[in-house]
Amino acid sequence: MKHLLPLLAFALSACVSVDRPSPTLAAVERRAPVVILVSIDGLRPADLGRGNTPTLDALAREGASGAMRPSFPANTFPNHYTIVTGLRPDRHGVVDNTMEDPARPGVRFTISDAKQTRDRFWWDGAEPIWVTAERAGMRTGTMFWPGTEAAIGGVRPSVWVPYAADISSAERVAFVLDWLRRPIAERPRLLTLYFDVVDKAAHEQGFESPEQDTAVRDVDAQLRRLREGLAAMGQVANLVVVSDHGMAAVPATNLIDPAGIADEAIMRTAQSGPILYAWPKPGAEAAVAAHVLRPRPHLTCRRREELPARFHFGRHPRVPPFMCMADIGWRFSSPGGRAYLKGEHGYDPADPSMRAVFIAAGPGFRAGSRIAEFDNVSVAALLRDLLELPAGEGLDGTAAPFESARRR
Ligand code: AMP
Ligand code: ZN
Ligand code: ZN
Repeated sequence: MKHLLPLLAFALSACVSVDRPSPTLAAVERRAPVVILVSIDGLRPADLGRGNTPTLDALAREGASGAMRPSFPANTFPNHYTIVTGLRPDRHGVVDNTMEDPARPGVRFTISDAKQTRDRFWWDGAEPIWVTAERAGMRTGTMFWPGTEAAIGGVRPSVWVPYAADISSAERVAFVLDWLRRPIAERPRLLTLYFDVVDKAAHEQGFESPEQDTAVRDVDAQLRRLREGLAAMGQVANLVVVSDHGMAAVPATNLIDPAGIADEAIMRTAQSGPILYAWPKPGAEAAVAAHVLRPRPHLTCRRREELPARFHFGRHPRVPPFMCMADIGWRFSSPGGRAYLKGEHGYDPADPSMRAVFIAAGPGFRAGSRIAEFDNVSVAALLRDLLELPAGEGLDGTAAPFESARRR
């Protein structure tokens, strides 16, 4: 009841005619459109239009869609932060799911270490869209998104939830709808919503497996529930649905034992999907170079200064001095180590298997717009545009790829 009072006051003041039947609260309230940024981790463009995604396919028909190139490395945390900052990982500083910083010797960031993921130190190199929105006086609500648990630049989303993989996809949608049912003064204008089940199924069982089909269908059904919930409360929304990267098949035979490279006597290493990073121990730079850089089958090792220009990667102090990348379809795995995965990402973002999904629908988009393949650094500029925030300076992407798809 407490929540209804402001609505009721607004409804009464907005009620002008006594002759017509009383309009419902939702109808008289004329809700301002919100922006909902949805991420379906690991969803590939090829997963759409196969009968598993009626809601996503409808959104694509009603709005804009296209394939999106991830940033390097094609892993979850760097790409989620790129999508909300408009900077490449080399500039925003979340350089991979696992990282170290020379300013914090002995500390390693991993995505399962909440002490680190909640520490603004790792995120303060850029300003994510929810911080920009909050600074502009808009409320934001985040139902998971890497970075949302930290007070980045000293600012947090108005409402957020600590990451917990066991909060089901249905519960995540329920949170978002609940926040939007709140009185105007408490209601977020920008929301994020994150689903991990597709990525998990594709890693463990492979894409186009029955398990991945089920996960894709489930997320699609949750998005249908989201749309139904929005319609029921008269909430107009611009939905921007993305994925962070695609997925490549990894045959069970295509495993590389990292022990052949990781000589702990001369280096410290970290593995992130198909990438093995190496930091030489003090004075061992030349020995590491001689050991790591020799040619090996099914992988390429390089100094960070020698990465292909299209990676836009290698300058940030958090990028380790050496890195080995497994060829597409290969991965690092120690004998008897972690259970083998059937799908993997983190490869060259230019490889078609790494392509990510982009679909946007709502009053801001023209129906049936196809967008030519673009880099995911552009999404943040689109979000700013939708929220009528300043364009932002010095970003790596602009809203230009979406211009012909926008309705104003
Ligand atoms: P990746 O290893 O790149 O496939 O990362 C995917 C995993 O990241 C998911 O299975 C989640 O468990 C995890 N993840 C996603 N978002 C978060 C978050 N905000 N905090 C912690 N872990 C997360
Ligand atoms: Zn991911
Ligand atoms: Zn993954």
